[in-house]
Amino acid sequence: MQSAHLTGMSQAELTDFAVTLTEPPFRARQLFSAIQHRRLLSFAEMTDLPQELRARLGEQAVISTLTLESRYLSSDGTRRYLFRTHDQLPAETVFIPEERRDTICFSSQSGCPLQCTFCLTAQLGLLRNLTAGEIVEQIIFARNDAYGAGVETPRGTNLVGMGAGEPFLNFEAVMKAIRIMAEPSGLYIVPNRVTVSTAGVVPRIRELATITDRPHLAVSLAASNDELRNELMPINKKWPLRELLSACRDFEKSLKPNERLTFEYVMLKSVNDTDEHARQLANLLNRYELHAKVNLIPHNPAEPLPYHPSSPDRVESFRRILESKGVHAFVRKPRGRDILAACGQLAARRAPRADIEPLAIASG
Ligand code: SAH
Repeated sequence: MQSAHLTGMSQAELTDFAVTLTEPPFRARQLFSAIQHRRLLSFAEMTDLPQELRARLGEQAVISTLTLESRYLSSDGTRRYLFRTHDQLPAETVFIPEERRDTICFSSQSGCPLQCTFCLTAQLGLLRNLTAGEIVEQIIFARNDAYGAGVETPRGTNLVGMGAGEPFLNFEAVMKAIRIMAEPSGLYIVPNRVTVSTAGVVPRIRELATITDRPHLAVSLAASNDELRNELMPINKKWPLRELLSACRDFEKSLKPNERLTFEYVMLKSVNDTDEHARQLANLLNRYELHAKVNLIPHNPAEPLPYHPSSPDRVESFRRILESKGVHAFVRKPRGRDILAACGQLAARRAPRADIEPLAIASG
């Protein structure tokens, strides 16, 4: 694509872009606010810009590059958007309404290069990294769809980088998108409301430890020993638990009071969910003096993944063992399973309940 993608530009970059159009800096502020705050996705809607400028912008730049292919509504209110990028690759986003806040789960890559055996996205392989603009666009689109185009957001929005892809293999674009979304004159979603999840790209965990204004970190474990983790998450062969947990310990030491590290542990029936695994996991975290809480995620099944979710009793027993050894653990409730929108189910699949008519939920 030749055109400049304005949605992925910071205020400063838009100012430089305005210079190339021989426009004054206030135009850049106007554009930034129109895209990021008013969430306008076309120049035609920017009626406060001179018509002549809108025409020139239309020739040289784009705002919206993602096309909605389908939208799925879950019986629990979760929405999944399946987009196509300008080069026809899938990108998926999930909107999860909650009582006091809403969560938007974005994708950092089209497909994913990691080969976690329990995750459906892995079956796509890596198609390509998404750009910062494509990441920001997902959030603008989801807010517009949920609340109405440009409508003030009724509740706080949390963001999680837990959609398709490994965010830490697309670190720069993800961090750039997070910076753009934090700007007060734009979407204004501060890093403190953002959590990025990694399968364990150790050098990036160490890099994040040095960055101020950073998102919260979640690390996916899925196993309590290297042998099992090598099998479930092949990335473990590159960065085994010893290296991963040392990096997590150093990261934890760098945390400020309002920052968080959490672990995620997908519960696979009879694979990683026994009492022995729970004890091993607790001992492991204690050995590395980690205090982070563990989120237990019952496996979200999807054909042809060869796993089943652990029973609620098993999950509860696992949780109690962790707690008894001083490890805080919570059970996460799956959302959007019926439309393949839950963790690990994003693979550009078609599902029942497709519907692409706009449908805004309560904006009050
Ligand atoms: N690549 C990143 C982010 C995407 S996965 C990562 O691995 O962290 C987000 C979370 O969903 C991870 O914790 C992952 O372990 C979990 N997950 C993947 N497949 C799942 C499945 N089928 N059921 C439940 N959780 C799953």
